[in-house]
Amino acid sequence: MLDFFKNKPVIIAGPCAIESEKQIIRISSELASMGIKFLRGGAYKPRTSPKTFQGLGRKGLEYMRKAAEANNMKIVSELLETKQLEESYDLIDIIQIGSRNMSSYGFLKQVGKMTAKDNKPVLLKRGFNSTLNELILASEYITEFGNPNIIFCLRGIRTFEQIDSKMRFTPDLAGILELKEMTPQPVIFDPSHSTGNSKYVVDIAKAALLLGADGLMIETHYNPIVALSDGEQSILPEKLKEIIDYISKRDKR
Ligand code: PEP
Ligand code: MN
Repeated sequence: MLDFFKNKPVIIAGPCAIESEKQIIRISSELASMGIKFLRGGAYKPRTSPKTFQGLGRKGLEYMRKAAEANNMKIVSELLETKQLEESYDLIDIIQIGSRNMSSYGFLKQVGKMTAKDNKPVLLKRGFNSTLNELILASEYITEFGNPNIIFCLRGIRTFEQIDSKMRFTPDLAGILELKEMTPQPVIFDPSHSTGNSKYVVDIAKAALLLGADGLMIETHYNPIVALSDGEQSILPEKLKEIIDYISKRDKR
């Protein structure tokens, strides 16, 4: 198990996307003041439409590095393809593979080869149409090159509920129980993408913790209405504080 999971739950928070230097500096210092040690933020965004904001690329990660260093935080950020892996590897502490790329086996192999040199942790998100077994098998495309440091992330799946649900996906909460029986690796939960709706994020986050999630990844923005991506599911830092307070109360008992 990765060292930092000894202090469970691990909370990864930050905006969906890095939008500017000012934005990432402001949000990281707000999060750091709440004790958050892992900063998320996409520089390469896998957006549903190519006409929407695609991310700031390496420049964005440079802003994020500055913000993370100023606040003693680690960076979690997604890479979508081999070119980005080569171009931005040095700026990221935990490489995120998104839901849409869980089955990009060629890319997973490249990630496996690249990370085998330093065993950089890889956060692998469940494909929203993939089974838990497929998720585990996908991780083997990385681990077979020698890096054992996988963090699994459940982030909601597609079901018939989407026909009339107010949630973007169906939160795959029961998957926490099953996946934890299937693997010794950490299993974290993403209440933001799984609900797609900020009003449900806090309750689903608490439920994930009750079911034994080793951590959470939560989209947080100080002004969700103007966020360039996923504003509707981003929560304010004060909402995140509710989750942090819930954890510290629980741990005191
Ligand atoms: C993200 O976490 O930034 C993201 C795009 O999530 P997912 O791959 O789960 O859709
Ligand atoms: Mn997002």
